[in-house]
Amino acid sequence: MKHMLLSLAIGAAYAALPAHAQEQDMARIAAQPAVKQALAYLEKNETTTTANTLAINAIPAPTFAEGARARDYAERLKAAGLQDVQLDGAGNVLGTYRGSGKGPLVVLAAHLDTVYPAATDLTVREKDGRYYAPGIADNARSLAAMLAVAHALRDARIRTVGDVLFVANVGEEGLGDLKGVKHLFSQRKDIKAFVGLEPALGADGDPVTYIGTGSRRFKATIRGPGGHSYEGFGLPSAVHAAGRVIARIDDIRVPLQPKVTFNVGVVQGGQSVNSISAESSMLIDIRSADAAVLAKVEQQIKDAIQQGVADTNQRWNASAGNTISAELTLIGDRPAGQMGKDAFIVKTALAAATVQGRPALLDSAHSTDANLPMSLGVPAITMSGGGSSGGYHSEKLEWWSARNAHTGPQNVMLTILGLAGMDGVSAPLAK
Ligand SMILES: [Zn+2]
Repeated sequence: MKHMLLSLAIGAAYAALPAHAQEQDMARIAAQPAVKQALAYLEKNETTTTANTLAINAIPAPTFAEGARARDYAERLKAAGLQDVQLDGAGNVLGTYRGSGKGPLVVLAAHLDTVYPAATDLTVREKDGRYYAPGIADNARSLAAMLAVAHALRDARIRTVGDVLFVANVGEEGLGDLKGVKHLFSQRKDIKAFVGLEPALGADGDPVTYIGTGSRRFKATIRGPGGHSYEGFGLPSAVHAAGRVIARIDDIRVPLQPKVTFNVGVVQGGQSVNSISAESSMLIDIRSADAAVLAKVEQQIKDAIQQGVADTNQRWNASAGNTISAELTLIGDRPAGQMGKDAFIVKTALAAATVQGRPALLDSAHSTDANLPMSLGVPAITMSGGGSSGGYHSEKLEWWSARNAHTGPQNVMLTILGLAGMDGVSAPLAK
């Protein structure tokens, strides 16, 4: 009987032991009084983090015009006590949280840019506990969360082993084509781990993304002779050809698994209502985490363009010298990349949640700044800045909710401490 009790007790104790090295290190880190203080700081100051989310979002930051938000954010990083705060050659804001100097360089990053043009009304509307505003979730919240982590580390005087480089980067969205992180990784060859922050779609909890969806983006430009709509009637129109091309692209059928998507996002063309258009263009986006299926759909779209143009020439019986033609330009190439589920960086981030009694959540594939380090072989993940959100890239629908939002920065801070190591407590998990 005694034996049995003893073995039960041992069994229970054993079951409660962390399952792997990352969890053991994370449990030790989370038990430190200074770390407890920093975690409490993040919860207690969530109202400030929320206010910063709104304030950062109020500064327009379209891709390629992030300067005003970057300069504001640099001041915020200085106020948070980071060192060597500066803008680099691409316009990224960099700031360093100094470690003891014996560890790996760990990057914590959030993109500055939004998909919305400079003139967009950024006024926040509050409804049913949600803040509605373009860009509030993607990516103002992440920027505010990153700032909160810097403040919490300093407030609790936490000493990391490796340096943590805070990066508010430009050019993540759209035609930015990961410009900011591409520049960062061209300059710094010593980055050993990369944690990017993005909103978590409609999430309860703070999932970790470890698969990077690749994308290929094209501009198709269609050209023809042009002419007067009455005098020149019978000449083929570049705008009409665009219509045929889009209809053909729209008809492409794709598999559900592996997921692959396509979209004609912007269409332009024509000079006036009474001109046969000499030129039209469209921007096309294709995405998949599976490189082969992505290439297949890319070829189908190229075929659709050629076929749509040929249909137009045939319909109008275009004579030589008066035909429509199409030219395709690659404008975006985001490499697909992926971490193993059991990669140390993934396990570290999941352990950050589990040691706080939260579920370990893995997210589906996304296309983010983390794609680039993944494709270079640098361990990388994307984490949530906290709160729930949705309606991204939709001016009227984008929202963010502050409910339980502090858990995001808390998980991120613990992950960073695990990766960079904590002086006298835990060796860096990033190597
Ligand atoms: Zn984003």
